[in-house]
Amino acid sequence: MLDTLRRIIQEVNRAPDLPRALEVIVTRVKQAMAVDVCSVYLVDNEAEQYVMMATDGYHPSVVGQVRLEFGQGLVGEVVRREEPLNLDNASDHPSYIFSRQINEEIYHGFLGVPIIQHRMVLGVLVVRQRERRRFAEQEETFLFTLGAQLAGAISHAEASGEIDRLLRESAEARYALKGVSGTPGAAVGRAHVVYPQANLEAIPDRPVEDIDSEIANFHAAVAAVERDMRTISARMVDTLSTEEIALFDALILMLRSENLVEGTLAGIRAGNWAPGALRRNIDEHVAAFEKMDDPYLRERAGDVRDLGRRIIERLQSSHPVAYAYVPGTILVGEEVSASQLAEVPAGMLAGVVSARGSSASHVAILARALGIPAVMGFDDLPVGRLEGQELVVDGYQARLFVRPSAAVRNEFKRLQREEAELSNELQELAGEPAQTPDGLRIPLYANTGLLADITASLRCGAEGVGLYRTEVPFLVRDRFPGEEEQRRTYRQVLEAFAPAPVTVRTLDIGGDKMLPYFPVQEDNPFLGWRGIRISLDHPEIFLSQVRAILRANAGLDNLQLLLPMVSSVTEVDSALGLIQRAYHELCAESDEVRLPPVGVMIEVPSTVYQIPALAQRVDFFSVGTNDLTQYLMAVDRNNAQVAQLYDTLHPSVLRAIQQVVEAAHGAGKPVSVCGEMAGDPAAAILLLAMGVDSLSMSAASLLRVKWVIRSFSKQHMQQLLAEVGELEDGASVRALLHRGLEEAGLGGLIRAGR
Ligand code: PEP
Ligand code: MG
Repeated sequence: MLDTLRRIIQEVNRAPDLPRALEVIVTRVKQAMAVDVCSVYLVDNEAEQYVMMATDGYHPSVVGQVRLEFGQGLVGEVVRREEPLNLDNASDHPSYIFSRQINEEIYHGFLGVPIIQHRMVLGVLVVRQRERRRFAEQEETFLFTLGAQLAGAISHAEASGEIDRLLRESAEARYALKGVSGTPGAAVGRAHVVYPQANLEAIPDRPVEDIDSEIANFHAAVAAVERDMRTISARMVDTLSTEEIALFDALILMLRSENLVEGTLAGIRAGNWAPGALRRNIDEHVAAFEKMDDPYLRERAGDVRDLGRRIIERLQSSHPVAYAYVPGTILVGEEVSASQLAEVPAGMLAGVVSARGSSASHVAILARALGIPAVMGFDDLPVGRLEGQELVVDGYQARLFVRPSAAVRNEFKRLQREEAELSNELQELAGEPAQTPDGLRIPLYANTGLLADITASLRCGAEGVGLYRTEVPFLVRDRFPGEEEQRRTYRQVLEAFAPAPVTVRTLDIGGDKMLPYFPVQEDNPFLGWRGIRISLDHPEIFLSQVRAILRANAGLDNLQLLLPMVSSVTEVDSALGLIQRAYHELCAESDEVRLPPVGVMIEVPSTVYQIPALAQRVDFFSVGTNDLTQYLMAVDRNNAQVAQLYDTLHPSVLRAIQQVVEAAHGAGKPVSVCGEMAGDPAAAILLLAMGVDSLSMSAASLLRVKWVIRSFSKQHMQQLLAEVGELEDGASVRALLHRGLEEAGLGGLIRAGR
């Protein structure tokens, strides 16, 4: 037994954090003592309860859920007596209370020992046996020794606030966190927290693999920052006053201080990686400075934060950025970006959770394109504490479950199965035309951006590409791709679909699509330097892109060019001029180059009223409902705060689209819709009834929309459009359309909350 004891203690000491130390104890003790259950209860002084924080034997879902009031039950008895309680039949004891959550009546033998540190009972270690069993004295001391061992780890975790967080987290896990909006679908997986480089606040806790090398990295980073500060201070000697220079010396002193260095080292030794340990330590110091009465000292909080950022920057250069993704990854962040999402290798990503953003954000669009459930817009998502946690993402109702109960996990797995079944059934429609029962036929195209979704688009029977977002390949690189590199990428898409049409949109960066290597700082990025505006201001970027696109089309001739973010005809004239120039340059090199049809995105309200003038210049229109809604309603598509106001079914948006269709048809030009609205089965009914000529959507939505088209006659759609015309708000429009879908037997397409 002594040997076993030693082994368990060594394993507990190696555990990176308290939850894992508790796991080790319960599993090893259960094995070693051949009992049916081993659990650890911790004392929650704030709630005045004993909380079960780990178990091997009971169902894992009861962790954090089984709570006894102070003084209650046999656990209360062990705490009161501060000594072991050894009973061959627990229910005979007067303090016994039965807990239904753990089906307790089937257990008889009971041995509980207190976990004591400095005369304080921190918790109770309990083993249970189904049969009556009186434990031997040797077993009592075995458990008692382990309890004492655990006490050190627990009191350390208590001092660092970890216990408090664990206890609160276990209470949190009982309910879902509510986001504002999402992309449909359910995901069950584990969190991986992503964060912008050098953003101290967003750094998550992470277990450390090699404590010694982590400590060495930290020391090296601190030394490097100290060197930086000395260099800056020396450089400034002639420019700053002695008093100001003294500030640098103060910072260097602070940097060397016991508190800053030792506090972080303690965190690393307790198993946190250096950036996480530093963030915690800096947080504590900042809070302490901010509480000070002296305004001068309060100001020092900013210096501490600044030092923290400097050390993080240095540390990050020692932490390789590449992360080994595993299947079932749920990407979590304060503001997950499209490029962070695109970095995850295919097949590994299960879900996305972003504290900021909405379902119209580009990261959500990309998630939808990949069929990945996402939830966006949380007020107080504890991002830093989610690394490695099991999560359930409910994209239908914009909810997130942290450490879900078994019941929640099973419910969502069932939902996933149902969705998969529906998708399998719909797969039969892939080869069928998108045609109403009374003969209205409309091509359904795919929106793509990643080469990875070409296969999915072809598999669901897309009849071409209605929107190829070229910025996506730009977003996932660390520099502008060259002309030949671009040509190869575009060629793959054009070839994959030829002879079906592929609409390639020229670069649409800006807004929430920032290239890491082309930063733009603006107060109002969505009203700023975006899309065609950047292309026209940087003709060298635009020309090389257009040349690459035209060259990619050589010999295929299935290309259409689309211009984003147009707000006036002069921009179209300038862009057409550059396209002509690129074309003529290329004609001199090859006779395979063709001038493709060119179209304009209708996504800025000003263009809604200039269709006749635009129609004289271009060949087709494509309505970008994502931006059109944002600009018509003055609702930032990325702002969770106002996401409830963002509604593509708002009567004004519907009227704007109808007006575009009528004006374009009047001028003999076709209209496509390529915003997310086209992939919403309810909205598609209205778009068809309005006479839109084609729809382009993410592959994940295509068969659902086709199912609707094949189930509703044109006449029925027009009748619904007429009824919708009487309504004054988006919610009533959605309700009417959902009723229509349900009456047609297509209720499976609607999930609660959408
Ligand atoms: C749109 O605005 O509707 C659109 C399709 O473009 P993006 O979402 O890429 O801005
Ligand atoms: Mg747009």
